[in-house]
Amino acid sequence: MQQYRAVKAAYPHAILFFRLGDFYEMFGEDAKTASRALGLVLTARQGEPMCGIPFHSSTGYIAKLIKAGHKVAVCEQTEDAGQGRKLVRREVVRLITPGTVLEDELLDAKTANYMICLETELNGWGAACVEVSTGEFWGTQKMNDPAYRGLASFLARLAPAEIIASGKTAARLGAAGVLPHTAALTVYDRPAAQLAPGEGWPARDIWANRQLALKAALGAAAYVEENEPHLKGRLAPVFKETADTLELDENAIRTLELVASDCGRAQSLWGALDRCVTPMGSRTLREWLLHPLADITAIKKRQKTVAGFVAGPEERAELAAVLENISDIERVLGRLAAASATPRDVAGLRRSLAGLEEFKKWFERSSCVGLETLRRFEDVYPALAKTALLLERAIVEAPPAKISDGGVMADGYHPELDELRALRRDGGARLRDFEARERERAKIPSLKVGYNSVFGYYIEITRANQDKAPQDYIRKQTLANCERYINEELKDMEARILGAEDRILRLESELFVRLREELAGTDRELRVFARIAAELDVYYAFAVVAAENGYVCPEVDLSCDLEIEAGRHPVVERNLPPGTFVPNNLYINDRDPQIMVITGPNMSGKSVYLRQGAVLVIMAQAGGFVPAKRARIGLVDRIMTRIGAHDALARGESTFMVEMKETASILASFSRRSLILLDEIGRGTSTFDGISIAWAVLEHLRNPEGGPKVLFATHYFELTDLEEKYPGVANHNVAVREWQNAAGRDEVIFLHKIEKGPADKSYGIHVAGLAGLPASCILRAGRILETLETRSELVTEKQKAAPRLPLFASHPVLDELRLVVPEKLSPFEALGLIHQWKKQLEN
Ligand code: ADP
Repeated sequence: MQQYRAVKAAYPHAILFFRLGDFYEMFGEDAKTASRALGLVLTARQGEPMCGIPFHSSTGYIAKLIKAGHKVAVCEQTEDAGQGRKLVRREVVRLITPGTVLEDELLDAKTANYMICLETELNGWGAACVEVSTGEFWGTQKMNDPAYRGLASFLARLAPAEIIASGKTAARLGAAGVLPHTAALTVYDRPAAQLAPGEGWPARDIWANRQLALKAALGAAAYVEENEPHLKGRLAPVFKETADTLELDENAIRTLELVASDCGRAQSLWGALDRCVTPMGSRTLREWLLHPLADITAIKKRQKTVAGFVAGPEERAELAAVLENISDIERVLGRLAAASATPRDVAGLRRSLAGLEEFKKWFERSSCVGLETLRRFEDVYPALAKTALLLERAIVEAPPAKISDGGVMADGYHPELDELRALRRDGGARLRDFEARERERAKIPSLKVGYNSVFGYYIEITRANQDKAPQDYIRKQTLANCERYINEELKDMEARILGAEDRILRLESELFVRLREELAGTDRELRVFARIAAELDVYYAFAVVAAENGYVCPEVDLSCDLEIEAGRHPVVERNLPPGTFVPNNLYINDRDPQIMVITGPNMSGKSVYLRQGAVLVIMAQAGGFVPAKRARIGLVDRIMTRIGAHDALARGESTFMVEMKETASILASFSRRSLILLDEIGRGTSTFDGISIAWAVLEHLRNPEGGPKVLFATHYFELTDLEEKYPGVANHNVAVREWQNAAGRDEVIFLHKIEKGPADKSYGIHVAGLAGLPASCILRAGRILETLETRSELVTEKQKAAPRLPLFASHPVLDELRLVVPEKLSPFEALGLIHQWKKQLEN
């Protein structure tokens, strides 16, 4: 327990897995936490709570603890348990945190598992991003980022599993509210010793103007190396400029359901488009959807390849066949670097490279792949071809999972191994020969020679024949109906065979380690190859979806227009019976119409229409085709959304507060190239408050000189007045058809068709009926509505007779005000007018 306490003291924040024989034991608070999280039975040892798990099945338990937000320190016995020695040395060999997981069982194959280290100064930040499982490592920074809004968007896209930051940075970012709730936060102050870039890092001058990025990268490297000592000195980052991409804030990513939805990944845009063959392709697609391009040339380059694949189904199918044999090379490389790659991992590489020749031929034939990609491939091809040969020679096609099972290295790879194997095989033949001879000698036809791991080789004779056992047999083990023996000759054979077996295993594992090291030598080439395969895989997926669903290649230009003819929502469409989704047009730009006010009943398709516009822009700028008859898309720089009342009660904010914060952040950061979706604002407060806020927000966004494209869905009919007041604002509504059914009852059909003009009714009661409110309730609501409507008609009549200030309409005082020429008034006259108007208003 003393040893335990000493180790535990160094890892206060992790659950310590303390190796005792075949178990990992946990004690004290750790044991309590783990027993709760894992459903283990809690026992006690010297009054100390304790629980344990078998070491060979630890992975599943670790996965559970990591998912529950814990860290796990694995403490192993680091010397052999010698006989009679009192205490075995034990050390923590790994600290597993959400961001430094390596095992496939603990990772989602389709999602990158990022650990991000952050550094900040006032309004500036640096970030280093590490994917330990693949070895991806890069730094970036942004100097002018008021309130860290850019950082929030950066984090929302990468969705790191773990964020590490110094106490100061953590506090600063926590106060700014930019840290995502989904990431585990580790406060980590980099040891002072870790101050300089390591070997293999980009030259110093690259970091000269990127001190924040450098600091973050140093922090990340120090943290990873502490947790995964294997990786010491192996990590080297690259610097990434914050590239020209379409900015998506956290709300947009969530509400547009780009990579996740309430109904799971499959119902997200990513899920709908993910026809990738490899997990690397899926991960890349996800990244592309979260980082759509904002550079026309780059978009067109992608489009060209996709178009080629759409037009060439055969070429596409050939590519898929090649990709099918490619394993998750990037993750294997990650495990190679950490020296934890298994024989199956390496076999995966072997399989991936076995098709290299075919891949090359496909490349040469292909008319779709860009020249630049071809060059990249040709550059790494020779090294890969060599590696392919090496792997084919070195390991068998389908090795066992663990090197200790043996039979991993191929025959003919290493002469000594071949010799030992021959000896073992020989041994088998000699045993059979021995068995035959002994049967003959003892005259017992049922005599058998066998083996078990406890007693070694033995001669087995049934009880009935026991008397016939020759003199030189020495009894070894007695079983219920037979007797087991050994003799000198068998003992001798046993020593030689077991010796060979032992040496084979040791040699195989030595050779395997050497092979892993050799493979690490082509790390760069394998990575390039993996990237190329992943990108082609995404083009392939884009093309398959486009071909199957009749998508078109969008025209992308530098205008500020958004012209979509007969557009469809790619995910909603998939969920409806074929042909029932109603396509809609969208024409909007930075001037007229700059703001579309869309009214219509609940459930008529307003949200779908809004999202569809943004989703198509994202698909287009990611380089894919879009579900429409025709689309022309002027480059969008930012998509912002304020959709749905999502509660942040956990954060202690009311729905209305959240809504207003989101609106505030939109108003703080748009440009004329932005696309803004507002699905109801001002709903969480009184009607007049709400209308006023919405009205003012739209006025703020309107800009006759060129403003952001705004799609605004609302229930407030009052807002349709804006169209008359301002050019650039256009009313639209979702068409509804009312008719009487055979039973003479009024029915309403939502046509889901967006048309010009404001809606005339809200149909809320009808939707309530659809939702299953009791018929009596619906009937009553209808009556009440009638009464209210008559009453409000009366009110309007009265207003005409004695007008009071209606919300935004004209008023005698306003009319007078319009007529006033201030330059011609003396201050006294002005004061007099104000008094007069005030009286008029009070009356
Ligand atoms: P709203 O925002 O007006 O309340 P939604 O946009 O959420 O309504 O749409 C409600 C439902 O109507 C969707 O779940 C979908 O099933 C259907 N829908 C919406 N748009 C279309 C369309 N263009 N074609 C067919 N069905 C649609």
